[in-house]
Amino acid sequence: MQTRSYPKSEALMARARKVIPGASVGVVRVAPAGMYGHYALDYAAAGYPRYFERAAGSRFWDVDGNEFIDYMCAFGPMVVGYAHDSIDNAAIAAFRKGNTVSIAAPVMIELAEKLLELVQPFTWAFFSKNGGDATNQACMVARFATGRRKIVVVNGCYHGTVQWMQAPGSPGTLDTDTADVLHVDWNDVDGLEQLVSEHRGQIAAFFSSPYHHPVLVDNEMPAPGYWSKVEKLCRKEGIVLVLDDVRAGFRASLHGSHRYFGFTPDLICLGKALGSGHPISALLGTDALRDAVSTVFVTGTHYYNSGPFAAAIETLRVLQEGDGANRMLAIGTRLAQGLVASAKRHGFDLRITGLPSMPFLRLANEPNPVLTEGPQALHTGLHAKWIRSMVQQGAYFSDFHNNFVSAAHTEEDLSRTGEIAEEAFAKLAREQ
Ligand code: PMP
Repeated sequence: MQTRSYPKSEALMARARKVIPGASVGVVRVAPAGMYGHYALDYAAAGYPRYFERAAGSRFWDVDGNEFIDYMCAFGPMVVGYAHDSIDNAAIAAFRKGNTVSIAAPVMIELAEKLLELVQPFTWAFFSKNGGDATNQACMVARFATGRRKIVVVNGCYHGTVQWMQAPGSPGTLDTDTADVLHVDWNDVDGLEQLVSEHRGQIAAFFSSPYHHPVLVDNEMPAPGYWSKVEKLCRKEGIVLVLDDVRAGFRASLHGSHRYFGFTPDLICLGKALGSGHPISALLGTDALRDAVSTVFVTGTHYYNSGPFAAAIETLRVLQEGDGANRMLAIGTRLAQGLVASAKRHGFDLRITGLPSMPFLRLANEPNPVLTEGPQALHTGLHAKWIRSMVQQGAYFSDFHNNFVSAAHTEEDLSRTGEIAEEAFAKLAREQ
């Protein structure tokens, strides 16, 4: 069995530790302590590569020359392939004309028009850089529009790292930052109704992803009727319904995940896949919130870069032309079928939850160690061992987060991943 080693990655990591606290190994950087219960994600120690040399299509190559089929897709932005010619060329053409200038480029308007045509029923768009910019702006808009303070979020949901989004007591936050954030369990309509009646007239917004995709534990789809009940309750109580589609956006439907799940939010936050890795996020809203978004003050030096607007327009075109969302759902379904069958052949029970295009994997032969021993047990146990073995043979998956497929994953990728899974499960069975 061919396995990877990472001497150059290790050396770079040692260098990084001296000058970058936490060494910042990509998206998983300094521990998101509050969110996951005050423990440090030791992703680097889990036998993963740390620094890349280059990436193309569905694959990346690390600094040690190891090749990986990438099922993390940069934690979401890679949606039609790394180093995508037409998308990168669109961005470069805009850069060359002057990426950041004292005034905006018309390409920003073109992107707003394109997005509003695709993602309905919204009538305005405001652009920023990261998903957390859009979710924070949504909070400000909802509070200003309603004149209310409280925000309801779903337990385990992630909306970014602004203070109010962190768990109460997180390092560097004040108790007042989270004092107006209320929590409810996913799919718990009764719990939401109770919160609403306890805080009647005080709740500005209900924030949620389209389905439940927390880290560490199985992901969950909305129960039948869930979204229509939530939507009805929000309308009745004047609560702004905010869809955080930063992660799932464009992997369920080109028209927003609310279209896939059949409901209508008041605000939708998009990011990640929108720019195919070029930094851009968006908040889209309905007419009723147009005055509020025009009044709330939000801006950033780099919000008006022309390159990412051009990249996003081209990304949407490529997704539309190639029926990207359905392609990803189909590829993810095939990936899941192959992995589950391979697991079964070797006596393992692989559970796959969430959207097929964003599968959360868990070997269920033993209880999830995170639930029995706490989050510090993340990288221990059968599942982590299997994932590590997949990675060491060149299929890059995560052991704590949902994975991602892209429209660039090929037949060859799926069949090579199948071979890797066979070897990894056989090894795991031998070691039992
Ligand atoms: N919302 C969700 C659902 C996310 O997954 C993320 C990022 N993981 C964010 C918001 C924050 O996005 P960003 O990291 O781009 O600020």
